[in-house]
Amino acid sequence: MAIYFDNSATTKVDERVFESMIPYFKERFANPSSIHIEGRAIREEVEKAREIVAKTISALPEEIIFCGSGTESDNLAIKGIAFALKERGRHIITSNIEHKAVSESFKYLEGNGFEVTYLPVKKDGIIDIEDFKNALRDDTILVTVMLANNEIGTIQPIKEIGQLARKHRFILHTDAVQAVGKMNVDVCELGVHLLSFSGHKIYAPKGIGVLYIDKELKNLIQPIIHGGHQEDGIRSGTENVPYIIGIAEACRIIQNELDKDIKHISAIRDRFEERILREIPDVYVNGDREKRVCNISNITFRHIEAEALMVYASEICCSTGSACSSGDIDASHVLKAIKVDPVDIHGSIRFSFGRFNTIQEVDTAVDILKASAQKLREMSPLYKK
Ligand SMILES: *Cc1c(COP(=O)(O)O)cnc(C)c1O
Repeated sequence: MAIYFDNSATTKVDERVFESMIPYFKERFANPSSIHIEGRAIREEVEKAREIVAKTISALPEEIIFCGSGTESDNLAIKGIAFALKERGRHIITSNIEHKAVSESFKYLEGNGFEVTYLPVKKDGIIDIEDFKNALRDDTILVTVMLANNEIGTIQPIKEIGQLARKHRFILHTDAVQAVGKMNVDVCELGVHLLSFSGHKIYAPKGIGVLYIDKELKNLIQPIIHGGHQEDGIRSGTENVPYIIGIAEACRIIQNELDKDIKHISAIRDRFEERILREIPDVYVNGDREKRVCNISNITFRHIEAEALMVYASEICCSTGSACSSGDIDASHVLKAIKVDPVDIHGSIRFSFGRFNTIQEVDTAVDILKASAQKLREMSPLYKK
């Protein structure tokens, strides 16, 4: 049986989530916009789901927009605000370790008359708030910085940026896809205007995303999908009812079990790192080990090709770079940004743990990695003990 340590790429659907969705593929199939009795009953369920999702991040139900993915949520937040405010200014600030859903949206905006500042991160994988203050301008309309990074797990100082957003007049968006379910996420405490997350990173299916939008901005944001005015006209298209029910169940579980999940997953991650660092020579952990989410461990195995290690240890599912771009020849932009030695980048692997992993799996995986690393190094003419 494979050992699945790739939960930041996607998670298994929780059985409880799956069960909650089934009736909505069967007898409860009506369109929530229909005014007949079946449609109205489904509308009620969708609105109950919205309340649960809202509560999970301390938002109001009317501040939750359901959409098709984390990527769509990021695109809607970024393009929707940029186009709405383009007369006020054209300057945007982001970080240089964002997910492609964010960075490619900015690349698109750069081709459409906007100017983007990419903040560097320090060696620990966290931006410097002084750099941020220095980048702020009178024409800065939007700031997007991710809450937790998908490759090294580091947590950014969103709350500090949120406090500055009150004084200066910029809109703050954060990509919280890797944060929800791994740490407490409270939109009021963070002071964000928009926040994105995705179903398939929190044990719900692929193909459902959430955008939180401050109610004051609902009349301002420009939709990117136009049509039948669902989701208050911000995201048209008939609601994906089964998946909305599913992501709400995933959120309900987070509300009840976040502390338990964090405790379980941190114990797994800590044992993994403790054994790897103690038993395999020439390895190190990338990114700050304190200010990071509980489930990610990015390890550099020096003098080893990560892909070769993954072939030798093929029972273990993990990632080099980020899964969405592991087909790229380009080395991880995140590891480059934290100035990992270019040779070492090719020996770096992301292990990401989840609710269904066990300590037993960690021990088996470390044994396999240890033996595989040793074998590969013995074959390498470059490696000297
Ligand atoms: C996975 C991920 C996304 C994209 O979400 P999808 O639902 O797969 O489109 C965006 N940002 C981060 C940080 C992610 O990890």
